Amino acid sequence: MPPTWRHGTAIHRALETAYRSVMAGIPVATTFPLALRTLNEAWVELDLPDVDGWHSKSISVLNRTLQHNVLPLDEILGVEMSFQDEIEGFKLSGVADLVLRINPDVIEIVDHKVTRTPQTPADLLADHQLNLYAWFAKRQWLDTKIIRGTHHYPVLGTTVTVELTEESIARVISSIIDTARTASQDSTFEPRPSGACEHCQWIDRCPAVDAKLATSLR
Ligand code: SF4
Repeated sequence: MPPTWRHGTAIHRALETAYRSVMAGIPVATTFPLALRTLNEAWVELDLPDVDGWHSKSISVLNRTLQHNVLPLDEILGVEMSFQDEIEGFKLSGVADLVLRINPDVIEIVDHKVTRTPQTPADLLADHQLNLYAWFAKRQWLDTKIIRGTHHYPVLGTTVTVELTEESIARVISSIIDTARTASQDSTFEPRPSGACEHCQWIDRCPAVDAKLATSLR
């Protein structure tokens, strides 16, 4: 996994610790020491380099995110919440970073994005991950009328939120089913190098990518 991805994973783990603590009744602004311990453990476990003061910047991001919370955390339904369901014979699953109850009619699905480049509301409306989780949420909490999708940008201290619609959810589910159907009819599983190799966790073992390229992409 490239360092930027591992860095995102470390921040995610630290936020997971913080929001689980909030779920257990601890005020978000006081969760920093717990989250910092998780960040440091993840930093070592993921073998992250400390280029350009990355570690201290990450600590600042974490501290600011928890001290100046921008998320509606009054009722947390789940942290790293696993969903599973089935449609047309295909099993779908996913893990949402954070699921929040805003009021009896509204649920918000939050995805943390460790980047300086926020997406637009239109991007979020087409986002596969958010719409898939909204589909799960609609099936799990049948009385919920509105599902919102949010990208939470800890580095920027901001969020982008949209209301996911019946149409946006149906479009994404239909696309996922089409992809699953195509994949299920594909009986050859040869690796096909592409731009995706840069983010592939199997690159070190992939027969289609030579060691030199793997090292340059890592
Ligand atoms: S490294 Fe191999 S398995 Fe991974 S995306 Fe590239 S071709 Fe596919």
